[in-house]
Amino acid sequence: QLVPDFGRLWVDTLFETFLDRTGALGELDRRAGDGDFGTNVSSALRRARQSIDVAPPSDYSGWLTAISRGFLGTGGTSGPLFGMFFRDIARCAATGEPTLGEFSSGLTAGLATVQRYGKAQVGHKTMVDALAPAAGTLESAVAAGAAPGTALEKTARAAVGGARGTIELIAKRGRASYVGDVARGVLDPGAAAAAMLLQAAALAQA
Ligand code: ADP
Ligand code: MG
Ligand code: MG
Repeated sequence: QLVPDFGRLWVDTLFETFLDRTGALGELDRRAGDGDFGTNVSSALRRARQSIDVAPPSDYSGWLTAISRGFLGTGGTSGPLFGMFFRDIARCAATGEPTLGEFSSGLTAGLATVQRYGKAQVGHKTMVDALAPAAGTLESAVAAGAAPGTALEKTARAAVGGARGTIELIAKRGRASYVGDVARGVLDPGAAAAAMLLQAAALAQA
C-alpha cells in the first residue's frame, strides 16, 4: 500500500522540487505562450503553503485540498485546470490515505475533469499529453498487482515520456496554439509540470 502519510509527503516533495523550477517553466511559456506559467504555479503553491502553515491538514484529503485551493485561486488556464485536477485527487480516498487503486481512480477522474473543461485530446500539446499516459499506465499497473513504488515510478516515467513528446508538436489548445509553428521545439510547460508532480508522488512513496 501507499506509505502512511503519503499526502503530506507528496505535498512536501512538491514544495521542495517544484518551487525551484518555476522559473524554467515560465521560460517555456515565454517562448510559446504569454510567459505567466511560472508565476501562476509558484503563486498557487505559495498560497497552498500559507494555508497549510495557518491550519496544518490532518489527513490526505486535507493536504491535497490545500493544493487544489491554491491552484483554484490562481489565474491563467492552468490554475483552474490543476485546481480541479487536485480536487479529484483529494477526493479519491474513501477514508484516510488512499489505496493505490483509489489513487489510480483519482488520477483517471482528474484527467477526465481536465478534458471535460479544457477539451484537449492527446497530441494537442497540453498537460493532457502527460496526464493521459500516466493515468493509463497506473491503471494497468494496478490491474497487474504492481507494488505501489514500482507503479508510481512507471506512472511518472509515462508522464515524462508524454511531456517530452510535446516538444515536436504544434499546439491545438491554449495560447501556444496562437503561435503555430513557433511552438514546435518547445516543451509544453503544463505537461512538464504535470510530469513533475507525478515524479513528486513517486518520490513520496520511495
Ligand atoms: P495561459 O495560457 O492562460 O497563460 P498558463 O500559462 O497558466 O495559461 O498555462 C498554460 C498551460 O496550460 C499549457 O502549457 C497547457 O499545458 C495548459 N493548457 C492550456 N490550454 C489547455 C486546455 N484547453 N486543456 C488542457 N490544458 C491546457
Ligand atoms: Mg501562460
Ligand atoms: Mg496567461
